[in-house]
Amino acid sequence: MLARTELRTPQQRECERCGRREVWDATDGCWRIATEDGVRSSGNLHCIHEWDIDGTFRPYE
Ligand SMILES: [Zn+2]
Repeated sequence: MLARTELRTPQQRECERCGRREVWDATDGCWRIATEDGVRSSGNLHCIHEWDIDGTFRPYE
């Protein structure tokens, strides 16, 4: 079987405003803040995040 969920779900995203980075946790089904070199890339907590992924990705059914 094809892993269709993987194909249509972005695996990571980055905020174009504050640099916050998140990775998709497929196990829990939620975004988690990415960690690099032990530092969480949480960006600006007050930022209205603008993610660099295409927000119009189509969930084929
Ligand atoms: Zn942001």
